[in-house]
Amino acid sequence: MIKLPRFRLAHLPTAIEPMQRLSAHLGGPKLFVKRDDQTGLALGGNKTRKLEFLLAEAQSHGAETLITAGAAQSNHCRQTAAAAARAGMRCILVLTGDPVEHEFSGNLLLDDILGAELVWTAGRSRDDALRETFDAAWEEGRRPYLIPYGGSNPTGAYGYVWAMQELMTQVDVGVMGGRPPDRVVFASSSGGTQAGLVAGRRIFGYQGQVLGISVDERAHVLQNRVASLAEETLAAINEAGHFDPVDILVSDAYLGGGYGVMGEREREAIQLFAQTEGLLLDPVYTGRAAAGLVDMIQKGDISREETVLFWHTGGTPAVFAGEYQELLGGRA
Ligand SMILES: *Cc1c(COP(=O)(O)O)cnc(C)c1O
Repeated sequence: MIKLPRFRLAHLPTAIEPMQRLSAHLGGPKLFVKRDDQTGLALGGNKTRKLEFLLAEAQSHGAETLITAGAAQSNHCRQTAAAAARAGMRCILVLTGDPVEHEFSGNLLLDDILGAELVWTAGRSRDDALRETFDAAWEEGRRPYLIPYGGSNPTGAYGYVWAMQELMTQVDVGVMGGRPPDRVVFASSSGGTQAGLVAGRRIFGYQGQVLGISVDERAHVLQNRVASLAEETLAAINEAGHFDPVDILVSDAYLGGGYGVMGEREREAIQLFAQTEGLLLDPVYTGRAAAGLVDMIQKGDISREETVLFWHTGGTPAVFAGEYQELLGGRA
C-alpha cells in the first residue's frame, strides 16, 4: 500500500465510549460510540480526516486557494474553511441557494468567522457555479484547487481507510473488551466515509458489517457510488480489489423529508442521545442515522446480542442553525 502525504489536522485517535444508558434503555445490544464529532478542527466532524490528505495534495500542487461546494449548513464547507486557515490558504465556498433564504447561524456563521469567501449558486446549477468560480479564481492568478463535494474522492476517502486501521488498533489494545464490533453504523451521503471504511475493512481484515444509513439517496445509487469510489481508493494506493454494489450495506429506509429536512424521528433521536448519554447529534446527518439505528434495534433487524459501534460523524454546529430552532427547542 502506498502512503499518501498527510497534513495533520485531527486529534487522533478519536475516543470510543460505551453508551450504557442508551443500551439499557433499548434493552440491548451493547452500544458504543466513536467520537469523530471530536476530531478537533473548528468543532470537528468526519471531513477533517479527509481534509488531512486533500490539503496535502493541494499543497503538493502549489495551491493557494481551496474551493469547494455544499449546502448552507455544510459541515464539509466549515471544516474546509478551517483547514485552509490552518494551512495559510484562502477558501471560497460555493453554497447552494441565495443568501436571503438563510439565517447567518450555525455552520454558515462559522464559515464567515473562519474567513471563507461565500459564493451563492443563486439560480445556477451547483456545477455551473463551481466552474465559473474556479475559472474566475484561476484567471485572477489565485492558484485555486478544487475539493470535491463532501471531500469524497479517493484522496479524501483514504482518510477513512486509516480510520478503519485506527479502529482495529483500538480493539487490539482492549477497547470494547478487545473484540471488534459486529457492525459499525453511521450517516452516509456523498459516500467517501463509507468507501474509505469498506476499503479499509478489506485491507485491515475487519470482519463485521459497515452499514451506512443513507441521508439523501436511494440505496442503489449510494451503493454504486460507494463501490466505485472504494475501488478507486484502493487503486490510488496500489491495491487491487473489486467491490460489488450489492455487497455495500446501505439502508434508505430513513430518508424522511429529504436532505436537510428535520422531522419528528430526527428530533426524537437527538433528544434520546442527549438525555441518556449527554451526546449531541445533528439534525441533518447523525440524528437521521441514530433514528435508523434505534428503529432497527426496536424492529429486531439488529439483534440484542450484538455489539454495535455508532460512528458519530459530527455536524453538531447545525443544532444552532436558525432553520432548526423551532422544532428542536421549546419542547422539553
Ligand atoms: C458529510 C457528513 C456525513 C456524510 O459523510 P459522507 O462521506 O459524505 O458520506 C455524515 N455526517 C456528517 C455530520 C457530515 O457532515
